[in-house]
Amino acid sequence: NTAAPAQNDDQVERSLVLVKPDGYRRGLTGEVLSRIEAKGYRLAALSVVEATPEQLAAHYAEHEGKPFYEPLVEFMSSGPLVAAVIEGHGCITGFRTIAGTTDPTTAAPGSIRGDLARDWGLTVQQNIVHGSDSPESAAREIAIWFPNGL
Ligand code: UDP
Repeated sequence: NTAAPAQNDDQVERSLVLVKPDGYRRGLTGEVLSRIEAKGYRLAALSVVEATPEQLAAHYAEHEGKPFYEPLVEFMSSGPLVAAVIEGHGCITGFRTIAGTTDPTTAAPGSIRGDLARDWGLTVQQNIVHGSDSPESAAREIAIWFPNGL
């Protein structure tokens, strides 16, 4: 049977995904992208970049001033990362479910963070991925990481 699965992407949503420097360094980019594609989401844009201070300040503006902010920015500057835009109905919540909860120690098995990340006793939670948490965040973050458009 070669019929394509029923599509309901008339309200296609986009999300900004980052494979953080820990994931990139550990060679987990393929694993993350594979889980995204296996779930049925489409890659609309993909880029390996070294984050600029301006990008990180904009991306993490809501966390500025928190105790983990400076170490987080330092970690996110520690090497290349992969920025991706994914597409598909419900992909914002869907990717965050695939990613698992923020703290990798308690993230569910089967999730990216639950399967592949752990607590190294560092200030920063090296939890492999970022995913936008709302359509507004997605639009804002896509503009930060893909300033020239998709
Ligand atoms: N983070 C951290 N310490 C904390 C909370 C968050 O280092 O106590 C880092 C962690 O890498 C997390 C990021 O800051 O992914 C953004 O935090 P947020 O609460 O937005 O979590 P997320 O949406 O990434 O699950």
